[in-house]
Amino acid sequence: MQFINLTRQLEIGANSYLLKTAGRNILLDAGLHPKTGGLAALPNFSFLNNNTLDAIVITHAHQDHIGSLPYLTRSHRNTRVYMTPATAAVAEIMLHNSVNVMLRQREDADILEYPLFTHRGVEFCSEAWELRNESYAFFPNDPSGNEIADLRIKFFDAGHILGSMGVLIESEGRSLFYTGDVNFDAQSILQGAQFPTEGIDILVMEATRGDSATAEGFTREAEELRLAKSIRDAFDRGGAVTIPVFALGKTQELLAMLWKMRRQGLLPPVPIYIGGLSYKITTLYDSLASATRRKLPELQLLRELSPHVIGGMEIGALQPQKRCIFALSSGMMSENTLSNVFARRILETTHQSLFFIGYADPQSPAGKIRRAELGHEIILDPKLPPLKMRCQRQEFNFSAHASRESLLTYALRVQPKTILLIHGDPPALEWFKNNLSTALPHTRIVISEPGQMIHL
Ligand SMILES: [Zn+2]
Ligand SMILES: [Zn+2]
Repeated sequence: MQFINLTRQLEIGANSYLLKTAGRNILLDAGLHPKTGGLAALPNFSFLNNNTLDAIVITHAHQDHIGSLPYLTRSHRNTRVYMTPATAAVAEIMLHNSVNVMLRQREDADILEYPLFTHRGVEFCSEAWELRNESYAFFPNDPSGNEIADLRIKFFDAGHILGSMGVLIESEGRSLFYTGDVNFDAQSILQGAQFPTEGIDILVMEATRGDSATAEGFTREAEELRLAKSIRDAFDRGGAVTIPVFALGKTQELLAMLWKMRRQGLLPPVPIYIGGLSYKITTLYDSLASATRRKLPELQLLRELSPHVIGGMEIGALQPQKRCIFALSSGMMSENTLSNVFARRILETTHQSLFFIGYADPQSPAGKIRRAELGHEIILDPKLPPLKMRCQRQEFNFSAHASRESLLTYALRVQPKTILLIHGDPPALEWFKNNLSTALPHTRIVISEPGQMIHL
């Protein structure tokens, strides 16, 4: 077996990994960089050397794992793409949205390579998708339609977002398990991951949170109580609360938390605003509720919370009234997104609140706001004047990624012969390499460098 990381740098960028086994080329994920623009946002597909891809496996529908799939499948027309039905449903919405975003960026930022694919391209791409449920092993078909008998694949629930899976690949008498993005702890809606621990030779493991220790005594329940109290305090100051969230995953987890807070009498039934993309994804979370492993199988978010949906034009007139919650994407507050546009209306006011509940790249507008001192100037959009940071700002930890401690515990249970570390910034990867080397002295621990062929 050979493994090549196709990302362009050691970072959480455009995730894609090539596995060569039994004379076959299998691609794991086909992401698009959430921050970089143009062709540089693609994984480094030049390592594919125009070879045939025998099968593509997608772990989940976040942009950094699926965003380049329609681009890639244009040159691999007959390659089948394997994913769960829930991932397929979400992916269709996300990829069509991505076309719209790229068309806008072509105008606004003069990125002439955009769009990298069209709406027709997404439809064409989806014709090659093969839907498989978790826990049932299958043999993929190659581009000629023949079953690849020496390659067995099985999905395991990753507890990260709707449809997310880890992938077990058995071939050449060995087994490789790719975690994808994973969360071992239950969130508000999703159950924690159910990953295999026996008979794994090679573990390909995400390292997102390697650089952040979990605070002593941290519990999600206590964090929810702290969020509820902070929202009440914000209302008492006479303002609203704005929470930048990813449309996929974080929005639905937040809505479920707000629902719980209402039921427990911790929060009054105040108006909640979300964007159009978040609404579409939430519809899927509701319609697929009984088909997925959930903590709250009966909860229908849209029916219970009746959020106001902000259409494209409405954001122009929308003002942060008192006692409202604005759960707006994008989570990183990228330019021209609802959260970025809306933040211009609250950043310089002292009675409005901005709460962060998930990951943001340090270089993104959300990352800059989180680090900025009060009174300092922040550039939210390079085309517009900077703003002074004056609003109330708080951070909460509701990550959809496993803590580094729980990933370490998992690796100790698996005791693989080799661990390949991926999906992390350099300090995060180093933390795992150091700690795993100490904890598992007989295991080969490798940071999977971009473009480096690893022989397994
Ligand atoms: Zn993800
Ligand atoms: Zn990811």
